[in-house]
Amino acid sequence: MIPLEKKDTEKLVFTKEFTKQESIPPEGIERAIEIMQSGRLHRYNTLPGEPSETDLLEEEFADFLGKKHCLACASCGSSIHIALRSAGIKPGDKVLCNAFTLAPVPGAVENSGAEAVLVEITEDFTVDFHDLDVKAEQTKAKYFLLSHMRGHMADMDRVLEVCQKHGLVLIEDCAHTLGASWDGRLSGTYGFFACFSTQTYKHLNSGEGGLLVTDDDEAMAQAILYSGSYMLFERHHSRPKKEIFEQYKKTTPNYSQRMDNLRAAILRPQLRNLKAQCERWNGRYRLLEKELNRSPYIRVPARDPKEQYVGSSIQFSLQGVHKDQVAVFLEKCRERGVEIKWFGWPEPHGFTSSFETWAYLKEQPELPATRRVLDSLCDFRIPLTFTLEDCRQIARIINYVITEMMPTP
Ligand SMILES: *Cc1c(COP(=O)(O)O)cnc(C)c1O
Repeated sequence: MIPLEKKDTEKLVFTKEFTKQESIPPEGIERAIEIMQSGRLHRYNTLPGEPSETDLLEEEFADFLGKKHCLACASCGSSIHIALRSAGIKPGDKVLCNAFTLAPVPGAVENSGAEAVLVEITEDFTVDFHDLDVKAEQTKAKYFLLSHMRGHMADMDRVLEVCQKHGLVLIEDCAHTLGASWDGRLSGTYGFFACFSTQTYKHLNSGEGGLLVTDDDEAMAQAILYSGSYMLFERHHSRPKKEIFEQYKKTTPNYSQRMDNLRAAILRPQLRNLKAQCERWNGRYRLLEKELNRSPYIRVPARDPKEQYVGSSIQFSLQGVHKDQVAVFLEKCRERGVEIKWFGWPEPHGFTSSFETWAYLKEQPELPATRRVLDSLCDFRIPLTFTLEDCRQIARIINYVITEMMPTP
């Protein structure tokens, strides 16, 4: 890298907000206004025979993924909870889960009455297959909740092999892989259930929201009942035959975790536009990846050619940088307007927390490999309000800060 002159380094600041998302498409806003004017915001508050906006979203989302059924929920976390229950979890059952994930994931496991068994991750931020195999064997767990955390997909062919070998039911957490594929097959089509988030910082934005998909009739009937259908399950358009609900309708509690029509209205045009948005994210991601990888102190993990990811955020490891120095690096970047998250903080910060701070877990896991990876793991979102030039400026700042801090090699 070319050393910068002092007058250049003064210009090295970034002033845009890392939290600023794009606005909702105009058609979504118009439709939301119509719904507000009608007063019919609840998914079951429709005229006879009329599909609700939520029904339409569910049909379109199921079509997009090529899945039989979709259920819109209050959040991704609530959809994971419903998925676990509907997949037959009983209190005390063990659920394998990669340790690099977001707090709502162990939260959903806890909510279902099951126990999370956390599995180590690799340098590339994906599940460690050796540890997965060992823990599946040791615990005799029957469920694997695979979180494609920050959009990093493990080798899905191997995931299916491990599930087959140990008889594991796979549930995918696709909060960051909506629109991504492994070897041409969409993320969310591998699991018995797959869960998606429409929370503001994910690939579709309705503030809060979750979408659950499956091909299984029995499981979907239960999921609809759990979500709180008030015995109006027949109204759902994306649902199994109504006879299937009969055996479950009295034994399935109503957990009241539905989505409403207003959110569905603003999500539908976003779903239609998703492919184009993914391309825009990837353009920004690739630029950042290339620029950051120029630094000898930064490693952006190589992605498998089979992984067609959506780069809506970027993660990198600081190499040869002591843990104490990482905090200094983050502060220096912050002073220049670049807000980077770190999974090395001993205390949970904002949206980032790590497994040691989930003190409600029944057994506190020992995960030395994951800890080592998290200690150098930096992360930031790539909102589409950033231009390519913005991304270049961010990379310039990060590279400058780290170079200035480190002794010349
Ligand atoms: C955001 C996120 C969730 C939870 O989504 P909510 O809709 O906020 O409940 C779960 N898993 C991962 C990996 C996430 O990033």
